[in-house]
Amino acid sequence: MIRILILALAGLLAAVPRPASSQEKVQVITTSADLQSLVVSVGGDRVEVESLIAPEQDPHSIEVKPVQLARLRRASLVVKIGLDHEPWLARITGSQAAVLDASKSVRLLQTETPRLRAERRAHVHAYGNTHYWLDPYNARPITASILEALVKLRPADKQLFEANRDAFLSRLDEKIREWEAALRPYRGTRAVVVHDTWPYFAERFGLQIVAAAEPHPGIPPSPAELAMLFTRMQETGVRLLIADPHASPALVRQIAEKSGANPVTLLPSGVDYIRLFEENVKRLTAALRTI
Ligand SMILES: [Zn+2]
Repeated sequence: MIRILILALAGLLAAVPRPASSQEKVQVITTSADLQSLVVSVGGDRVEVESLIAPEQDPHSIEVKPVQLARLRRASLVVKIGLDHEPWLARITGSQAAVLDASKSVRLLQTETPRLRAERRAHVHAYGNTHYWLDPYNARPITASILEALVKLRPADKQLFEANRDAFLSRLDEKIREWEAALRPYRGTRAVVVHDTWPYFAERFGLQIVAAAEPHPGIPPSPAELAMLFTRMQETGVRLLIADPHASPALVRQIAEKSGANPVTLLPSGVDYIRLFEENVKRLTAALRTI
C-alpha cells in the first residue's frame, strides 16, 4: 500500500513543471528565417529558435499553424522584422514574450515614399522598405539588439553571447570583403526589380535600381504601367531584371522578352544568413557576366 502511494506521489511530482533552470535553452520565435539565423549566431546552443515563416514561403500570405501558436505562447522572446512586414502577428494573442523589433536598430530606406497607408494588407512598405536584412552591414546593429535582448533574459551568459556574436561578425566581415570584390567590376549596373526587395542590397553592392515592375509593392502592374516600364528600360538601357522566387513567371518572361534584359532570381530569405548572400552573389555575378 505504502509502495503504491510512494509511486503515485512520485508520478505526481514528475508531472509538476520544473522552474526554468539556467541550463535550459531560451525559447525564441522569429518571423523570418534570416532573423532565426542571426539569433542563433548570438545565442548559439543556449537558444532554441524557430521561425514562423520558412524562407521559401511567401511572406504575403502567412498561416500560422496551431503547433507554432503553442510555441509562440511558450517563447520568452519574439524577434520580428517590424514595420508592416507581419501585421498578422498583432492578431496572435496569448504570448507573454518580450518582443524585439529589429527594424528599430537599422537605418531604413524609403520611409518618405508615399504608400497606400489605408490599405490593411501586409507588406506594402508603408513605413519604409522592410527588406533591410539584405544589406549584410545591417547584421551588426541587428545582432547588437539581439544580444541586448538575450542578455536581459540570461545575464549569466552575457560573455558567451558576446563571444558568439564577435566570431560571427568577423566571419561575416571576411565574407563581405569577398562579395564586394566579386561585384566591384559591375558597380553602377542598372537593374529593374519586380518587387522592391533589393534597395539595401543594391546600395551596398553598387547596383542602380531604376524601376520596380510593381508600381506599389505587392500590386501587379497594369498594361499601361508595363508600357511605361518598357519605355523607361529602353531609355536607361537596363540589361538586368531581378526577380524574387514568388514573382509571376509570366510577368518576368514578358519583361525580359520585351526589354531584352537578362532575368535573375535572387533569394530574399535563407536559413543561413551568410549562405544567403553567398548564393545571391553567385547568381548575380553569373547573370552579370552574360550581359
Ligand atoms: Zn517587400
